[in-house]
Amino acid sequence: MEQFEKLGLSMNVLSSLKTMGFKKPTEIQEKTIPLALAGRDIVGQSATGSGKTLAFASPMIENLQQKNYVQALVLTPTRELAEQVANSIKSFSSKSLKILAVYGGVDINTQIRKLHNAEIIVGTPGRIIDHLKRGTLSLNKIKILVLDECDRMFDMGFHDDVEFIIHNCPIKRQTMLFSATVSQDIDCFIEKYTNNAIAVSVNSYVEDSKLKQIYYDVPDHLKFSLLVHLLKKENSKSAMVFCNTRRNADFIAENLNNLNINAIAIHGGLEQRKRIRIIEDFHKNRINILICTDVAARGLDIKGVSQIYNYDLPKDSKDYIHRIGRTARAGEEGEAISLLASRDYENFRRITENESLSIKSEKPPFVEQIRINIDYSRKRNFGRGGFSRVRRNDYKRKQNSKFEGRNSFGKRRDINKR
Ligand code: AMP
Repeated sequence: MEQFEKLGLSMNVLSSLKTMGFKKPTEIQEKTIPLALAGRDIVGQSATGSGKTLAFASPMIENLQQKNYVQALVLTPTRELAEQVANSIKSFSSKSLKILAVYGGVDINTQIRKLHNAEIIVGTPGRIIDHLKRGTLSLNKIKILVLDECDRMFDMGFHDDVEFIIHNCPIKRQTMLFSATVSQDIDCFIEKYTNNAIAVSVNSYVEDSKLKQIYYDVPDHLKFSLLVHLLKKENSKSAMVFCNTRRNADFIAENLNNLNINAIAIHGGLEQRKRIRIIEDFHKNRINILICTDVAARGLDIKGVSQIYNYDLPKDSKDYIHRIGRTARAGEEGEAISLLASRDYENFRRITENESLSIKSEKPPFVEQIRINIDYSRKRNFGRGGFSRVRRNDYKRKQNSKFEGRNSFGKRRDINKR
């Protein structure tokens, strides 16, 4: 606690941190909190899981008073992250500041009712703009603006939306921007919208000593079987399996369930309420394996995730870093395991262009091929609109060929492709 005290935090925040069992600040907190408390603009380069929420939230709590109007806005790329950050800010504060998560996919009227006296808003760009246009939210008394996971926000196409929102904020404000990676695009943005910002960076994306990164080179037709083998061997309470498409996520979850493995898919095709429920179940270990797409899992902080599996390799090192950031968080140990089949080679080559990543090859164990048997008589959710018979047959044909090795070269229409 002493080290937190030295950063200039008051008893209010210190007592919450004590209750939460935080003993000493993380690097990003140590570097950011004193500057942020002094009102400086900040550009923080740090990974998810580095403790950056407290880094920007504690000065926010210290510097804001209960006034029944919006004084701080945190923008996040996804709904889940908005919900998570809002909950974290609530837990860091014993002051009675009103903190509200504002995102799409949920009833807007309830949100409007709560907005009228909220003091800190954590939201996604789309819904914030919706409220601005309806006149149900005013940002003209904002003192603090935070852009969380800025690189993700821009990757997801929110650049113009973020600019629109900033133009609705007062020019005189404190701006804090956090990003795991800083591109040229973000550099221009910093130049335009921050005032004499101090750059704070935390060296490694993840704690190297705590995170083991390996890959298995596996024939296409054995990839699913290898995943099953590894999941069974680890018998993990909490693991995440990443796929590149919603359809593949559904397919993997479905087939793991058929083998009595406790897994569920989460992706952007599910209703928001359902996504929240799945994450809650995963948090509470009622579900052990989350099969997810990047969008659904972005920035999520779930404690104790011991393995990250890349069932499909992400397209570049940026996405890879975001994925592996779900494990080895806050000093815990973790493993990132990539399953590399021929269709992943190109992505893997791009990922390994980033020389700071050390991914070691591991010899695949012997695995029996598991034959996939899809029962189409049951109703399932394969994304919006479900499956027509034509699509169903097409899907079935692709799956059979994919997993029984009949579609080797050239002609395959791969469901992994977006
Ligand atoms: P974040 O990067 O803000 O998503 O934080 C990642 C995880 O680390 C969250 O579960 C936090 O509750 C936890 N955390 C943040 N700061 C500390 C700290 N100083 N000591 C221990 N855990 C922390």
